[in-house]
Amino acid sequence: MSTYATPLKDMEFVLKELARIDEIAKLPGYEDTDLDTAMAIIEEAGKFATNVLEPLNRTGDQQPARLAKGNQVVMPPGFKEAYRQFREAGWTGVSIDPEHGGQGIPVAVNTLVEEIWRSANHAFSLCPLLTVGAIHALELRGSPELQARYLPKMVAGEWTGTMNLTEPQAGSDLALVRTRAEPQGDGTYRIFGTKIFITYGDQDYTDNIVHLVLARTPTAPEGVKGISLFVVPKFLVNEDGTIGKRNDVKAVSLEHKMGIHASPTCVMQYGDAGGAIGYLVGEENRGLEYMFIMMNAARFAVGIEGIGLSERAYQRAAAYAKERVQSKDVGEKGGASVPIIRHPDIRRMLMSMRSQTEAMRALAVVTGAAIDHSKRNPDEETRNRARAFVDLMIPLVKGWSTDTAQNVTYDGVQVHGGMGFIEETGAAQHYRDARITTIYEGTTGIQANDLIGRKIGREGGRTALAVIAEMEKFDAELAKGTSDDLKAIRAQLAKAVEALRSTTEWAIANFGNDVRGVFAGAVPFLRLWGITASGWQMARAALIAEQRLASGGGDSTFYRSKIATARFFADHSLAQTAALRHQVTAGSRGTLEMPEEAF
Ligand SMILES: Cc1cc2nc3c(=O)[nH]c(=O)nc-3n(C[C@H](O)[C@H](O)[C@H](O)COP(=O)(O)OP(=O)(O)OC[C@H]3O[C@@H](n4cnc5c(N)ncnc54)[C@H](O)[C@@H]3O)c2cc1C
Repeated sequence: MSTYATPLKDMEFVLKELARIDEIAKLPGYEDTDLDTAMAIIEEAGKFATNVLEPLNRTGDQQPARLAKGNQVVMPPGFKEAYRQFREAGWTGVSIDPEHGGQGIPVAVNTLVEEIWRSANHAFSLCPLLTVGAIHALELRGSPELQARYLPKMVAGEWTGTMNLTEPQAGSDLALVRTRAEPQGDGTYRIFGTKIFITYGDQDYTDNIVHLVLARTPTAPEGVKGISLFVVPKFLVNEDGTIGKRNDVKAVSLEHKMGIHASPTCVMQYGDAGGAIGYLVGEENRGLEYMFIMMNAARFAVGIEGIGLSERAYQRAAAYAKERVQSKDVGEKGGASVPIIRHPDIRRMLMSMRSQTEAMRALAVVTGAAIDHSKRNPDEETRNRARAFVDLMIPLVKGWSTDTAQNVTYDGVQVHGGMGFIEETGAAQHYRDARITTIYEGTTGIQANDLIGRKIGREGGRTALAVIAEMEKFDAELAKGTSDDLKAIRAQLAKAVEALRSTTEWAIANFGNDVRGVFAGAVPFLRLWGITASGWQMARAALIAEQRLASGGGDSTFYRSKIATARFFADHSLAQTAALRHQVTAGSRGTLEMPEEAF
């Protein structure tokens, strides 16, 4: 049975060489986070994950969270104690600004910490993930009173947070939200309505839960411009900060799901007994706008789920492939049966899993570094450029990484043969758990629309073309690579970048006159961007690895492996870009032609 091992070498390489942690450590507020400190944090997270979180992953899958009497969720055995340890070790506030009681580590470093939680226990990690989302909402627009009352407890992990957006008739389209918020004349509101699919809507970890809820006031205009954001605590909080009366909000049922069984997905009922007391965040009717500002962080966090699950699935598959003996080596005459890792097709799957995981990690951490620069770089132009890059990359980190995690966890099952279908090995759990990641926090279709519409179409492709130009410029650098591997990587990257440019120009040119045709290719377009952008990072990695090998010293096995995974990615993933270009630019007719009644 495989145990999770933090991929420390790759994490260090990505932080140091691709995200340039030395540059991040020069930014105001990040001076204490050099590479050694960052790696010490990551190692600690890894130990906690391996010792405390991973042993509960299967327990949570087999003994899901349940709803007990009094609308109280009871978490799977061991989870409450693990959460206590997680909180006491200070992990709940690691990414939060020190101004609000957190440790404020750079996003690039936190990306790896988050990956570790997702690898070890995806379902457990969702509670802190949602709490951080709620903290950000309060940091962003909460009044000083709301901040003072809720933030310290949430940052310390003493209370958790939730995000209540979805309703039965309002999923991707939040303009349809119907939950009501009636002003009481004393600054508070009474909230009435039903929210569905609310992650950690209730739990038994903490004595209070802070729900962030989207609702409409009676005078609100229709649609997206009439939605406001409220804090609705499970228990009201007295002036002195102590816990008061139970509020009129409860979990009325839990969903039975395909995966993440330990994560309670709640139907939440507000206002059965006179109305839940809620406090407005920011101004009325601007709730969705606040949500949009926070969305980048939330989508980025879900993208990391794809990476964490892929890493874990890869490690499990690699361990199994070394142990399982079956069939002779096709290249040897006679001889005994061999471990299945000797079979070329098993190696293909393992290399596919590993190279895609490394590519996703590289893209996410480089994007994390850009988030750090967008917030703290003293130079305004650099901040703006970084922000534009981040906006473009977010749908890729979310949409492409979670989409890719489906292939990786699928191969994880396949490597195990029949045992992959049997729950005992754990491969099936990764496959099932990964399935939600392309759905919540905006489906892949919604990410792809965001990329091709808001991020590219509407701004005439300014940022996209500037990023493509950077990729093209990198070709001269890549030409310094001397080995056959580097030459092959360069050739594939050049073709991919050319496909990316021509497809992006096609989308820009057709956005105004054939918008349905352009949107018909949105998901293949997202894949084309995801593969090329991460292939660019893999090519950078391969070049650095070759240079380190040439100068001697360091871990030569690691550098050679990095070149091998980059080469594999070039020949197997970058090579798909020509087909993706065709799907986008020529595929809309086939997608849209058939009359609706023929379906
Ligand atoms: C386990 C789980 C946990 C969740 N946790 C939370 C939570 O904590 N808080 C919360 O508020 N919500 C949560 N959700 C809800 C989640 O965010 C929604 O399910 C998701 O946004 C999709 O909405 P929907 O299910 O209504 O699907 P729909 O919006 O009905 O979508 C159905 C299909 O139509 C497609 N589609 C819709 N609109 C478009 C379009 N414009 N263009 C192209 N395709 C489109 C979608 O991509 C999808 O394939 C959770 C859901 C699940 C299953």
